[in-house]
Amino acid sequence: MDAYIYADKYLRDEPLLAEIPEELGEELQPGCQVLFSPGSNSRKTVIGYIISLEPGRPEGVQPDGTVVDLLNNAHPVLTEVTLQLALWIADYYVSRPIEAIHALLPAPLKTTVQDIVELCGFQLRSGGEKIVTTALRKNILSALRESDKPTVRQLEKKLGKKNLYRTLGIMERGGLLQIRKKFPASGPKTRTAYRLRDDLPPETGDMLKRAPRQADAVEKLRLSPNACLFPEESNISRDTLEALVSKGLAEKIRIEIQSSFSSGFSEPKKVIEQLSPLQNAALNELKEASRKGTFTPFLLHGVTGSGKTIVYIELLKTVLDAGKNAIVLVPEISLTPQTASRFRHHFGDDIQILHSAMSNQEKYDAWQKLRTGKARIALGARSTIFAPLRNVGAIIVDEEHDGAYKQDRTPRYHARDTAVMRAKLEHAICVLGSATPSFESYSNAQTGKYRLLTLPERVDNAAMPAMKLIPMLENRRITPSLSEVLYMQIRERLKRNEQVILLQNRRGFAGSMLCLDCGHIPMCIHCNVPMVYHASARQLRCHYCGHALPFKGNCLQCSSENLLFKSSGTERIADELRELFPEEKILRMDVDTTSTRGAHAMILKEFHDKKARILLGTQMVAKGLDFPDVSLVGVLMADIGLNIPDFRSGERLFSLMMQVAGRAGRASIPGEVYLQVYNADNPLFAHLLHGSYEAYYHQEMVSRKELNYPPCTRMIVIEFSSPDETAAERAAAACADQFASRKAAENCIVLGPAPAGISRIKGRFRYQVLLKLPGMRIASDVLKHLQYDLMNRWKQQHLSITIDVDPQSLM
Ligand code: ADP
Ligand code: ZN
Ligand code: ZN
Repeated sequence: MDAYIYADKYLRDEPLLAEIPEELGEELQPGCQVLFSPGSNSRKTVIGYIISLEPGRPEGVQPDGTVVDLLNNAHPVLTEVTLQLALWIADYYVSRPIEAIHALLPAPLKTTVQDIVELCGFQLRSGGEKIVTTALRKNILSALRESDKPTVRQLEKKLGKKNLYRTLGIMERGGLLQIRKKFPASGPKTRTAYRLRDDLPPETGDMLKRAPRQADAVEKLRLSPNACLFPEESNISRDTLEALVSKGLAEKIRIEIQSSFSSGFSEPKKVIEQLSPLQNAALNELKEASRKGTFTPFLLHGVTGSGKTIVYIELLKTVLDAGKNAIVLVPEISLTPQTASRFRHHFGDDIQILHSAMSNQEKYDAWQKLRTGKARIALGARSTIFAPLRNVGAIIVDEEHDGAYKQDRTPRYHARDTAVMRAKLEHAICVLGSATPSFESYSNAQTGKYRLLTLPERVDNAAMPAMKLIPMLENRRITPSLSEVLYMQIRERLKRNEQVILLQNRRGFAGSMLCLDCGHIPMCIHCNVPMVYHASARQLRCHYCGHALPFKGNCLQCSSENLLFKSSGTERIADELRELFPEEKILRMDVDTTSTRGAHAMILKEFHDKKARILLGTQMVAKGLDFPDVSLVGVLMADIGLNIPDFRSGERLFSLMMQVAGRAGRASIPGEVYLQVYNADNPLFAHLLHGSYEAYYHQEMVSRKELNYPPCTRMIVIEFSSPDETAAERAAAACADQFASRKAAENCIVLGPAPAGISRIKGRFRYQVLLKLPGMRIASDVLKHLQYDLMNRWKQQHLSITIDVDPQSLM
């Protein structure tokens, strides 16, 4: 018998034909992980995956090699569905199948380096002897008696590779030994923190008279909630803290960081007595579809605070009751601790939460737990869509519009679309939930491809927060970032002991322009996307089509030189706020203050416990927070984001604004949202004020249709990079030519070549070609051949080409 397999290190599109030895025949099935040895070199082995079994070999065909062993104790590592899903990804997102298979599996499973074998203590008793029948088994036993816990690698050297894993597997099942993955012991991770000594001398103040920074640090240590500080999270330098240590005022301690998710922020369990009529209506439709057991995709469009989470939870209860399993995707688990902890409250050990802070050992254990059905719900970020669960009845994608669902390396799959595909293969229902659905999903709901469910109101009769614009050009400012109006509002809330969230959108882009006098953002006349400043050429360029304009540093509309090239940071704004509100503790949440594990949860907890009343941060503050005392949300420069060179910039900004607005106000305290804007006339803001997603969608869709942008067409970006600029540009031009001349066949619109968003990274020049496909999609074979062909032609110049299907950003 033969099998078709895909194998590690064989970067090719067609499967290998592998011969299967007689004795393995019975146990092999598609999805099994094997060791493959190429015909040319029987001593070499690589990991492979069985795609299909082939009983008869056509005449004259030579196999590429042999399957010499069976891994993972003969349990398939891919289910029928995940195998098909991998092949779909390879085809749709234009990657090699082995790359797609690898994307599906957790790292520790893709290597045998760390496998060790242990004898079991009771091996000489009872039925064990029966299993020791063949020579190999006897040799294994004696080898194990000789050396203590050898690795499989070491046994291979002694006994050869053939059948070793499989035999070990049989012996393991017979209770003679155990194969285990051993991961480098990475003791508990710790971080350095500083705290004041208990025996602080009374003359401390005098000691530090001439060292204001150290005095300030002592004050901060005194006030810090946990009586200790991590230097990377405070704006006190390590040197200052070390100086305090050497003066005997502070001490250094190591704090253990737990990787377990539960150590993060969690809220007290809240019991929801009964669902609102709207929630019930949505839930009933979902339940009914789930009972039918056929593929049904839903879009659940529910405003923030409409209570989507409990609808998911109630749905999953019925799915589990029906004996089926489920997958829940969230954009980033560390940013949505509340959602995750709510699921955990309801499902306890039935749910496995997967997150990036897990160690290899934890990842491996979690994966096996799901594979064996010991946990029945997998919840996590995008790769959780590949959970090795069988019999999946429901897949939920929360915040389905989030860009984090797109994988940014090959295979560049979109987890939301992959979720819909998996649901189809599983005959399951799929629920995409969002307050501001992606236009892709919303248009699918409009055409009836998805069933639309809406929750237009907040639960508990809470009103949607009122939105107001503060046109910055007409308003007095108190500080460079803060208008008088917003300042007064903040003061008002603090007086009433309510809380305030301030957002400074940092989703900026190097070279993005915004005039701070007239609000103008230069746009490409052909593509209707913001143009980007290229300093070296003193030009504004369109990253889609390459259109360029000379630029001398003045606004093209009002000639002002007061231009914003980059967004201003949260740190400076925090300083401004400290000066205005010296008594207040200002919490800052951005990439700098949350780079260490647990820091994000700690900030949330402090805010939740009302240890601080002002939270300032980047778009992070918009996600997954639910704090009852927040009555005001302020956005400092609401235009930032509109100037990003991307056709989705408006859609993204709209979504971010709705999301952050959702943080304000609950039933007891009505919320208000203030947007400081420069482009007060942009229709986006008018739609925002009315809270009208639909109106904004319909307006935007007009220009999407006109300019052939998704969701009206498909889009593919092909990126060319090389240390040799000419090579990158020529290859891009050759590619563009190819499609321009194929126009009739592929019916596509070619833009570019244009320099990529960041035109040079690590010494490599980047160009891109953009394809818009109003009609059918391009066969992935066509793209692959073109890719290999061009890479071959500019091999000497180390040309590399990446293909991004349905790109989420063009950077
Ligand atoms: P969404 O995800 O739609 O923004 P959530 O699921 O976070 O909304 O729900 C918002 C808040 O409302 C949560 O605190 C939740 O516990 C609460 N909630 C949801 N449904 C109900 C209900 N039927 N009765 C009372 N409170 C509810
Ligand atoms: Zn201007
Ligand atoms: Zn253009």
